[in-house]
Amino acid sequence: MNALLETRRLTANYGDFQALFGVDIRLNRGETVAIIGANGAGKTTLMRSITGVLKNQADQVVHDGVEIGHLPADTIMKRGIAMVPEGRKLFPSLSVEENLVIGGQHKGGSDLGDRIDSIISRFTGAPDPMELAQGHDGRGYWSLDTIYELFPILRERRDNPGTALSGGQQQMVAIGRALMSNPDVILCDEISLGLAPIVIRDIYAALPKIKETGASVIVVEQDIGQAMAVADRVYCMMEGRVTLEGRPSEISRDDIHAAYFGAA
Ligand code: ATP
Repeated sequence: MNALLETRRLTANYGDFQALFGVDIRLNRGETVAIIGANGAGKTTLMRSITGVLKNQADQVVHDGVEIGHLPADTIMKRGIAMVPEGRKLFPSLSVEENLVIGGQHKGGSDLGDRIDSIISRFTGAPDPMELAQGHDGRGYWSLDTIYELFPILRERRDNPGTALSGGQQQMVAIGRALMSNPDVILCDEISLGLAPIVIRDIYAALPKIKETGASVIVVEQDIGQAMAVADRVYCMMEGRVTLEGRPSEISRDDIHAAYFGAA
């Protein structure tokens, strides 16, 4: 079976510093894959490489049979790979609904397109919302209505500034914004970071519904228990390399300990 998304001997550098050393991961259609690893293991760098924020060789990242490693980030997003970034990164001057709308497709003449135009015309800060507005082909399940069904609290808060929400609600906005482009791959970078357990539970409760609509998911998690609970397969990274791969049911605590911290 062809993978939906694959990295092949992926390397990444920050200047002279090499952060990834030949990383192979694979996401099959319909799967949830978790990437675990300690601070600095390279998880975020892996996400940034897949989304084209960091440049690669063409053949180091393959999506749906097409080499995408050399493509710019906005082209990769249009292909259907969406990112929920670490730290949520909402647009502070926009309302909840505007943050969601900006994640949708920019289509001239459509309601959504007109709304995005009007948001952009009064938007003054970086990053460039146009980049986020150029979504996947826009057809699919996700719209403002279906995102409000997924996270009803966001409908109540739709006119609030995104930054006036609780951390958990901001995370819901960040997930909703990514879904607005109707991606077939959604990358979630540390979505439970800094949130209370009950809030994390609510956020992860949305995952089955997201998968039902056809998206495949990669979650980056520092919480090993959470990763094991949601993932079909888990990869552990350490110092820029994959140190373990397997199904949660096949991996022992000792395996994880060794792969996460290194052999004693
Ligand atoms: P965390 O859980 O802390 O986010 P991580 O597993 O996501 O960790 P990365 O953020 O990918 O790890 O970092 C991998 C390595 O690359 C680390 O050694 C880090 O210090 C380094 N690194 C990350 N970003 C940069 C950067 N912009 N410039 C230089 N080095 C960086």
